[in-house]
Amino acid sequence: MNWRIPLADLDLGAEEMAAVQEVLQSRWLTMGEKTQIFEHDFAQFSGAKHAIAVSNCTVGLHMACAAAGLGPGDEVIVPSLSFVATSNAVRYTGATPVFADVLSLDELTLSPQAAAACITPRTRAIILMHYGGYACRMEEFFRLAEEHHLTLIEDAAHAVGADWQGRALGTLGHIGCYSFFSNKNMTTGEGGMVVTQDDALAERLRLLRSHGMTSLTWDRHRGHAWSYDVVELGFNYRIDELRAAIGVVQLGKLPGNNHKRRELTREYHQRLQQSLPQVGLPFLGREEHSSCHLLPVILPEGTSRVRVMEAMKAAGIQTSIHYPPSHLFTYYRRIHPEHVPLPVTEAAAERELTLPLYPGMSTEDVSLVVDTLAEALRA
Ligand SMILES: *Cc1c(COP(=O)(O)O)cnc(C)c1O
Repeated sequence: MNWRIPLADLDLGAEEMAAVQEVLQSRWLTMGEKTQIFEHDFAQFSGAKHAIAVSNCTVGLHMACAAAGLGPGDEVIVPSLSFVATSNAVRYTGATPVFADVLSLDELTLSPQAAAACITPRTRAIILMHYGGYACRMEEFFRLAEEHHLTLIEDAAHAVGADWQGRALGTLGHIGCYSFFSNKNMTTGEGGMVVTQDDALAERLRLLRSHGMTSLTWDRHRGHAWSYDVVELGFNYRIDELRAAIGVVQLGKLPGNNHKRRELTREYHQRLQQSLPQVGLPFLGREEHSSCHLLPVILPEGTSRVRVMEAMKAAGIQTSIHYPPSHLFTYYRRIHPEHVPLPVTEAAAERELTLPLYPGMSTEDVSLVVDTLAEALRA
């Protein structure tokens, strides 16, 4: 499908191509010097003490859960209104995700009160997801985590470059995970980063990334090691040099691109408020500290979202839904056969519509999207 305005678009050019070519010419393609540079730059950018590049955010979340020592019998509180990777990561360790509701249709992040109500003696961790790049209610979650000795993991897949009181989202909890999938604010195709301020957790995460091995192929290539020991059951969750090299370039572009996303989000909000006051605008007025990854709107109750999406599609405008809630998926209904109602999540999942947002959009594009939406809602 050739969209007039796609949901998301990449900012890729000559610099990324040159970076890839340089790696190919170097003849070292697996984790090495470029990865070290990428991790160093990302740590500096985010203020994290340790940044560990991985092959995607999902494995990063798995590593985070494993490093937190989660296993069968443990419970982890997660939002259902997220990409399914958030709860899948918990399941990989054998632990049980417990779904909690989000705050409101204006604030689509985990409710601290709902999370607190889910705490049992088995609860070991909470995974926070900064929906659209807007911070969760951190003060309340810090208090909960401290009081109940819980590990706080941040799914910061949307939130690269966003902050809470000047601190980068993803660096606030014990471990944070970012995604560089191709529709995220910066991309390496597939790719991710895990960050922590804790030296012991960082060491554990590095081991888990590469089979629990005490030395890397890269170390041996450089003559720094002859052999290795395997000290725990790890995985191959490594990134490669091609992606790391793209990541370095993309990270450099991120502040400028996030700035454009913020301006476009303000433009959208202004126009939507003017012409469609019946449409809800989650996180209104919070652009400043957000990475503005998504532009979610809440359609009026009773609107046929499918019809709206079809009308937008007929005009060449791609829209999406974030998210079909995880607790209603067949797999998770099997894990939790008793239906636990999450009324806000279910209402959001029925009425949310995601509009196109990417740095290369023009204000004319924003106008066209808003006008087309207005027409679709009138019809
Ligand atoms: C994209 C995304 C992920 C998964 O990231 P991958 O890099 O594709 O594994 C996890 N959580 C959320 C909220 C996401 O949006």
